[in-house]
Order: sequence, then C-alpha cells, then structure tokens
Amino acid sequence: MERDIKGLISQMTLEEKASLCSGKDAWNTKPIERLGIPSIRMSDGPHGLRKEEHLFGESKPATCFPTAVTLAASWDRELVERVGKAIGEECQAEGVQILLGPGVNIKRSPLCGRNFEYYSEDPFLASELAKHFIKGVQSEGVGTSLKHYAANNQETRRLTVDAKIDERTLREIYLASFERAVKEAQPWTVMCSYNKVNGTYASENEYLLRKILKEEWGFEGFVVSDWGAVNDRVKGLKAGLDLQMPYDGGLGDKKIIEAVKRGELSEEILDEAVERILRIIFKAIENKKEGASYDKEAHHKLAREVAKECFVLLKNEDHILPLKKEGVIGIIGAFAKKPQIQGGGSAHVNPTKTDDALEEIKKIVGGRGKILYADGYEIDKDEPKEELIEEAKRIAKESDVVIIFAGLPERYESEGFDRPHMKMPESQNELIKEVAKTNKNTVVVLSNGGPIEMPWVEEVKGILETYRGGQGWGGAVADILFGVVSPSGKLPESFPKKLSDNPSYLFFPGERDKVEYREGIFVGYRYYDKKEMEVLFPFGYGLSYTNFEYSELKIEKKKITEEEILKVKVKVKNTGKMKGKEVVQLYVKDIKSEVIRPEKELKGFKKIELEAGEEKEVEFELDKRAFAYYNEEIGEFYVESGEFEIMIGKSSRDIVLKETVYVESTKKIKKRYHINSTIGDIMEDTEAWSKLQKFLADLEKAFGIESYISYTKKPEKYLKNDCLRRILFYYVRQGADMNKMEELMTKFIEDLNS
Ligand code: BGC
Repeated sequence: MERDIKGLISQMTLEEKASLCSGKDAWNTKPIERLGIPSIRMSDGPHGLRKEEHLFGESKPATCFPTAVTLAASWDRELVERVGKAIGEECQAEGVQILLGPGVNIKRSPLCGRNFEYYSEDPFLASELAKHFIKGVQSEGVGTSLKHYAANNQETRRLTVDAKIDERTLREIYLASFERAVKEAQPWTVMCSYNKVNGTYASENEYLLRKILKEEWGFEGFVVSDWGAVNDRVKGLKAGLDLQMPYDGGLGDKKIIEAVKRGELSEEILDEAVERILRIIFKAIENKKEGASYDKEAHHKLAREVAKECFVLLKNEDHILPLKKEGVIGIIGAFAKKPQIQGGGSAHVNPTKTDDALEEIKKIVGGRGKILYADGYEIDKDEPKEELIEEAKRIAKESDVVIIFAGLPERYESEGFDRPHMKMPESQNELIKEVAKTNKNTVVVLSNGGPIEMPWVEEVKGILETYRGGQGWGGAVADILFGVVSPSGKLPESFPKKLSDNPSYLFFPGERDKVEYREGIFVGYRYYDKKEMEVLFPFGYGLSYTNFEYSELKIEKKKITEEEILKVKVKVKNTGKMKGKEVVQLYVKDIKSEVIRPEKELKGFKKIELEAGEEKEVEFELDKRAFAYYNEEIGEFYVESGEFEIMIGKSSRDIVLKETVYVESTKKIKKRYHINSTIGDIMEDTEAWSKLQKFLADLEKAFGIESYISYTKKPEKYLKNDCLRRILFYYVRQGADMNKMEELMTKFIEDLNS
C-alpha cells in the first residue's frame, strides 16, 4: 500500500518536522509516537556490522569480512554483492536498518589513514564494486550509506580542510566513484563528508548535494551528515543535507525552527527533507524481518572463501608457490598468530572469531611436514629486536622454505590520522633482509591497507599481498600458500617504488586548512603511465599459479557515434595445469585529443573462472562514458570525435590485445571566436579558415596592403600561435585607418560566430 507521506507531513507541527531532521542519540532517528512514526537504527560499516550501544563503546560480535581495498582486489562484482548480502542479514538479525557504508573515496595518496576502508585509485572500479555491495545489503531490506561525499581523501584536518579541486578532476575522478553507485544502486542514504570542497563544507554544499547528487544523478534517498559534520544547520538544510547525526542536544532543531519562524528558511525545504527521511524510515520498517538470525559459522566460512579471492600474488620466482606439504616449513612473524585483519576507527568490527595463519597452516600440512615458528618482531614496537631476529635466522637455517608474515600493524592505519610515511616498521624490514640472506627460499605474506615500500623486494622469492583480510584471513592464506586454490586477486591501486613518486606527494596533506589537488586527473596509474615511470607493482597486476592466453579481440563496429553501445569480445584460455580465475581488464585511450588525457583508463573488467585447458569468450559493452571526458566549457561529459584504442590487459602495464574504433560525436560544440582567437584555432575549422583567407584578400583590395600571411612569410607552426589582434595591428601599422580596421574586424568576427 502506498503510504500518504505528504498527508502525514501536513499533520506535523513545525517542531515535529525539525525534530525528525536530527538523531535521537548516537545511532537512532527520533520517533514521533503521536503520528505513528517509528525510529530507525544506523550502524557502521562497511566490512562488517559494528553495532555499539554507545558512541565509542564496545560493539557486538559480527563477521569481519575483508575490508574494502581487499574486496576490491577480487575485482569480483558477484563476490562483493554476496558479502553485502551477508552483512545485510547480520543487520536484520541485530535490528539495524541502515549500514553506514560503503566508502568510495579515491585512494589519492598511499598515506590516507582510511585507505583500508576505500576501494581503489580508480573511480570506475570503486563505483562498480560499491554498486554491487549496495545491491547486496539492500537485497536484504537494509539500507546503506554511501560515504564520504565528497573528496574526503585524507584524515589530516578532516574536519576543517578545504579540498581545492578543479571541476574536471572532481567530475572524472572524485565524484565519479560515487556516481554509478548512486545512479545504478540507489543507496538509501548518502553520507556527506566532514571537509570543505572548494570553499564550502560538504555538509552545506548546494552544488554537491542538491544540484549534482539529487538533481543530476536522481538520488532518491536522504543525505545524512557524517557524525558531527554539521557546521551551520540551516545552511546545510538549504543545501540539501536532510538528517543531522548524531544527537546534538537539540541545537540544530532549534535553529531550524527559528529560521522558519523568521522567514529565513522556507518550510517547503524542511518538508522536502522530512519527506525524504520519512520515505526511508517507512521503507526500513516495512522491510524489517522480525526474529531474523544468521548462521555465524556459515558467515565465518564465507569470510574465508571471500578472502581467498582477494589476495594478490606479487612475486613468484622459481614457482616457489604453491608450497609442498612436506619438509621443514619455517613460519616467522608475529602476524601469523595475531592476524592484522582490519584497521582502526569507526570501521573496526568485533569479529565473531578469527583464524590465525599458523594454526591453519598446521591443519593443512597435517603432520606431513615439520613446522617451526618464531615471532621475529614485536607487533607494538617498530625497532628491531636482536634476539628475535637471531631466533628467526636459526629457524630459517633449519627450514626448506620460510614464510614471513609482515606488513603494517593495525595501529598504523585508522580513521582520524594519516600515515607519516609509506614504510613498514624497521623491525620487519630488518627481519626480512636477514632471513632472506639466511634462506633463499623466502616468501613474504603482507597485511596492509595501502601501498608500502619494499626495500627487500629483490631479495625474496615470493610475495603475497593479503591486504586487510577479515576474520577468515588465516585459513585463506593457508589455502593460497598450499595451492588449494590459485590466487586471483589484482591490485586495485598502483604501488609506487617510493612515496615521492606518488602524484599527490607535493601537495598532500596540504597547507594547514587547504589541500590543492594539483595533480588533477592524474591519480595513480593515470599519472605513472603518462610519466612513463617505473612502479613497484602496477594497477591491475597480480600473478596466478596457472596461465591465461588471450585471443580474438573483436569489436562489433569500427565506427560508432557516442550514443551507441560498442560490444567488445575477447577469448581467454587457461593454458596452465590448474583451475584458476582471471580478471580481464579493458582500458580505453583517446589517441588524439584537444584536452590532456591519460594514456589509458579502465572502462571494463570481468572475472572469469577457467578449468585447465578451458576457453571462454568475455563480452564488454562500452557506452559514451567509456570515451568521454568532462568538458568544463559545456558542463557535461563529452566525446571528441576521433579514434580510440580499446586495450585488453592482464594489468594496466601488460596490454595483450588492441583494436581501434572511430567514435563520432553527435554533439557539436560551437567555437566562439574573439579578437584574441589564435590563427591555429581558426585553421582547425575549415569554414572559418577559408573565411579568414577571404577576409585578408578583401583587405588587400580595400587598402592595397599585402596580406599578413604572405608579407610575414611565417611558417605554419609559427603563424598558428598568432592571433587576430596581431593581424589588426599589422594593417594599422601598414597605414590602414584604425577605426575602419576595427569596424571590419568586428564584422569579420561576427561573421565567424554567426
Ligand atoms: C566516520 C564515519 C562513520 C561515523 C559513525 C565518523 O567518524 O567518518 O565513517 O560512519 O563516524 O561512526
């Protein structure tokens, strides 16, 4: 039955309406019993439910799934959706109506404290995966909160910093990671961020909230503030911020009431916010599953299954992996017993249980091989400890193969602060170097939420990046190390060799309350590729225990308009001996463009499973956005006519097949000419160019002055950079009447623009 929300609003007093626009406490909305309006509950998110009774209190146990960056490394839409669905079930069981996640902020710098909570440096990958996460959670009748909108790419001064970003960069990178998710999955809520964007707090940014999110993208839910992100409540409401969280002692409500009474805020704006909030409240209540429960063991198993799909094999010299179950296996590193499966802050989940890697390895080896163990370092200290390193070396000497568990302790990564550098603790770097000297069969298993420097990369044979693997991490690591499954994760971000290689390096985290995104659209691989810079590991990279060969790249048409969909097909064969999964990546390059564009951009990806010897055809569909850039002049995404390269890659740096398509734009942008237009611009436009030549011939007739072009004999490359003003002065200098010349030039420009 359609509920009469507008009718309900008409019965509400001004005070009741205002009361609905802020929380009752840390997590719930306010009920209005008189009108049968219930309260709903929100909880963090994103990679598991963090239901706490008080702000900053202990939360109830819930399944801790791999964090966002880890999930992103799976490049698997269905998998991410399954995780969302499972978390949705847990929300139903715990009486939570809205999960505060996913977070889709772009990983601009390796240093952002919340990098483990965010998906990628690429907006297409981030938005696609977020879309499926949202679909998964919401399929259970539980809402999501897509966060943190927008440009919350650092924790340093997050409540006060102003992110200065040009429009094209904002649209192509920082808003794009939200856009698809909003348009195609309709999260019930969007959470605005703490920071300012181009001078205005995100919580009172009409351009972001009303114009782009609600009007342009058609967002139907309500906007909730990040916890404590409200600066000026009335400005916020006007700009499109509907719900303020958490409870602020009634201050915000009071301000709203006074503003309406004083005529500074129209009641219609308040009604609109109330309507959005009420629609979600009733939707949540209608979808509530009383008495719901979930199977803790099944979810734990799922966490392990999922983690296996996410790990990225970065190095595998001499096929050191998968390991044999026989012989002496040295396990070194305290993380093996104390898994570092997530980061800190509001995303910190209290896991129902956590598998450690040492125990899981013992289970898999099952007494066939001998397992030795040493801590190697202290988790809570960064300085190397001599005795621990010596003990590790003793074990390494006795072992046939050594697995070192290392990376970043959880205390390194959290909401609320950024990392000061990209290094691992010295205790671990030292340990790895020493052990690798002792035993050449050394493999490093990493746990970290973002890129790290690896000064020992050449000295070890194997590297497995497990990111922040969630509570099933230990079992999943054992499964991958011993080849129960082949690794199939790919990096959702680039690993630069050193921090100073990163494009944001010079401007991150900014100067006091200002951070300028001067690298523009050149984030991550878009920058490293353009600069032809070597990286430690590129975007999209990851090895497998089997091999894949690509063939028969076909594009359906050689020429399309930007309004058509281009179908692309490619065959992939598993030519190795083991079943495995491959992430097929599609990148697009604009071969020649008027604006500066990246070398390539990810525009499609698909993960497929292939038995040994099996071949499958993968199909992609490319729409306008695959070819477009954001044109600031016309304020929309625009495709410039011309040739585009369609590239199929195993990673962003391993392109195996290419095709070219011509895309014809149906939108013509009319050039506007003026006295300072360059001759080059005119030359590019055949009609304008012939008009200019005629104009010069007419001038010759009228004044008897030789044409500017033949007189100056400038070569074309020089002439191109002249402008009309220069021509005007040439004729005046040669004796033409100034006023007459100006009149003729004005007429000529009018003619060009007509
Ligand atoms: C975080 C959000 C979180 C909220 C509620 C804020 O500090 O930025 O991501 O959802 O707290 O815990």
